Amino acid sequence: MLNARAVVRTLKEYHPPLGGRDGLRLDFNENTVGCSQRVLEALRGVDYERLARYPEREPGETAVAGFLGVTPEQVLLTNGVDEGIHLLSETYLDPGDEVIVAVPTFSMYEIYAAATGARLIAVQAKEDFAFPTPEVLARIGERTRLIAIANPNNPTGGVVGREDLLKIAAAAPNAALLVDEAYFDFYGQSVIDAVSVTPNLFVARTFSKAFGLAGLRLGVLAGAAEQMKMVRRVASPYNVNGVALACLPAALADREYVGEYVAQVRSGRERLERELAALGVKYWPSQANFVLARIGAESGRFVRAMRQRGILVRDRSSDPGCDGCVRMTVGSPEQMDRLIEALRGAIGDLGTERVSA
Ligand code: PMP
Repeated sequence: MLNARAVVRTLKEYHPPLGGRDGLRLDFNENTVGCSQRVLEALRGVDYERLARYPEREPGETAVAGFLGVTPEQVLLTNGVDEGIHLLSETYLDPGDEVIVAVPTFSMYEIYAAATGARLIAVQAKEDFAFPTPEVLARIGERTRLIAIANPNNPTGGVVGREDLLKIAAAAPNAALLVDEAYFDFYGQSVIDAVSVTPNLFVARTFSKAFGLAGLRLGVLAGAAEQMKMVRRVASPYNVNGVALACLPAALADREYVGEYVAQVRSGRERLERELAALGVKYWPSQANFVLARIGAESGRFVRAMRQRGILVRDRSSDPGCDGCVRMTVGSPEQMDRLIEALRGAIGDLGTERVSA
């Protein structure tokens, strides 16, 4: 009988609840208004030759390197950040090696790490989901080979300071430190400038969030040139498809589009946070395009009540330390009007049964 490897047989399944997503989709942290018109034009311009040929990643990498202020040798275009995480796991992890994450966080670190046979060390975030820097430093050992940190973090929206990140990189010279900056655009602070002087630092970026291209699957992994050489060895030469590569220059060129969308999200985020405070709902200040709120024991009912009002939000109750928590993506002002109206109604429905922290 054919058996998958033991570590695969026991691997957690990641099932994004994609089915039946009718309504305003505020459950996946996507861009809620779509991408730049210039990208759509580039997409319409894709011809049969482009589709007939194997894609060529290098021109895109040169353009992205210029955009990020690093050299082409320091970047690899990836099939989303997800692939970047997968490639780092394949490049650095042997069975029995250790991977450190601070939880709650994005689940793909654990999944790709576990698939290699590495052991996950999950350090619980501190009160209010503050990043547990001393605890992470204390867990770094002989076998630590990967430390993955989402900054801003998903699902909390919290951030870690630059000094802490660089301290962790310095404390674990035999490990890759991945700083996953998928939500960078909504935050504005990065450590990407440090890849030239930090030999074990990797920074991931994506076009899935602020740029509105989650369906195109386009991400970037940046790191020291020496290490990126190794990472490239385990990547398919055609990991990023030709359609995505055809759209990339337009996406990079339309800075105005991203700037405007990010400004909308930042003000929507403030508005949502003010509303949650007014409703007496505990929330965690966010630097990303979503807000995590503690609805309480009735969070499942709340999510259903929101769905009935045409708004999809994500129950995060089963994440470590997230009992009763729901994550809501921030969108345009009109979408925030709809979200807030539904929120008031759904919270009202729960009435006194709601247990708020
Ligand atoms: N990192 C984090 C922290 C995320 O929240 C997500 C999206 N859910 C990703 C990476 C995946 O991004 P991509 O679409 O680029 O694979």
